[in-house]
Amino acid sequence: MSDSALRTAFERLNIPWTEEKEQTLLSYMDRILERNRQVNLTAITDREQFIEKHIIDSLACAGTEAFGRSGRIIDVGTGGGFPGVPLAVAFPEKSFILLDSLNKRVKIVDELCRELGIVNVTAVHGRAEDLARQEDFRDGFDLCVSRAVANMSTLCELCLPFLRVGGTFIAYKGEGGEREVEEAGRAIELLGGQVKEILYPAEGRFMEEHCLVQVEKLRPTDPKYPRRAGLPGRKPL
Ligand code: SAM
Repeated sequence: MSDSALRTAFERLNIPWTEEKEQTLLSYMDRILERNRQVNLTAITDREQFIEKHIIDSLACAGTEAFGRSGRIIDVGTGGGFPGVPLAVAFPEKSFILLDSLNKRVKIVDELCRELGIVNVTAVHGRAEDLARQEDFRDGFDLCVSRAVANMSTLCELCLPFLRVGGTFIAYKGEGGEREVEEAGRAIELLGGQVKEILYPAEGRFMEEHCLVQVEKLRPTDPKYPRRAGLPGRKPL
C-alpha cells in the first residue's frame, strides 16, 4: 500500500480530501514514530501499517449519522491521538477534546498538534473518572469516541457521563465486540444508554473483524457515576 491509500480511504468514507489534510496526517505519523523512540506511543512502526491501522481505522466512524451531526467531540484514552487526531484533521470544523491519563502522551499529542497547526484539538491530561465529574465536561459533548481502552461495561461508565442527553458514544471494538455488548447490557441501561447499532465499516476489507458500537444516551447519567478512579475498570458494573 502507498500513501495514496489515504486519499482512497477519504473517498470511500465520503470525507472531503485535500493535499493539506493528507500532508498533515503524514507529518503527524512521522513525528509520532520519531517520538515513539523515547515514549511508548504505538507498537506499529511500519508506515504502511500505521496508515492503515491508526489513520484509516480512526476515520471509520466518519460516515455515521451521529458523527455527521456532532460538533463537540471527546476522545477518551486517546494515547498517541487515535482516533481523535485523524478525525480532527479530516473535519477541521468540529472541535475535539483528547483525553488521556498518561501525561507524557498528552504532552506529545499537544505539542505535535501545535507544530502542525491542528487548532481544533485540545489535549487534556486526566482520568475520565475525574474529568467526567467536572462541570465543564459533564453532559458537554455531542459525541464520545474511544478505541482500545477498556471493556464495554467499563467504557460506558467512563464515557456516557460526558454526553448530553441525545448524544452518542462510539466504541471502536475488535473481535468479540458483540459479546462485550451483551455482557454490558445491564451497565448500559443503568448509565442511561441504549445500544443503537453495531456497524462493520470495513466489511470485506482489511480489518473486517473491527466494529463500531454506537450507544445513544437516552437519560441523564446518575451523578454517582463514574465511580472513583480505578473502580470502573476493577469492578465493572
Ligand atoms: N486510543 C488509543 C489508540 O487506539 O491507539 C490509545 C489506546 S491505549 C491501549 C489506552 C489509553 O487509554 C492509554 O493511553 C491510557 O493511558 C488511557 N486510559 C486508560 N484508562 C483511562 C482513564 N480512566 N482515563 C483516561 N485515559 C485512560
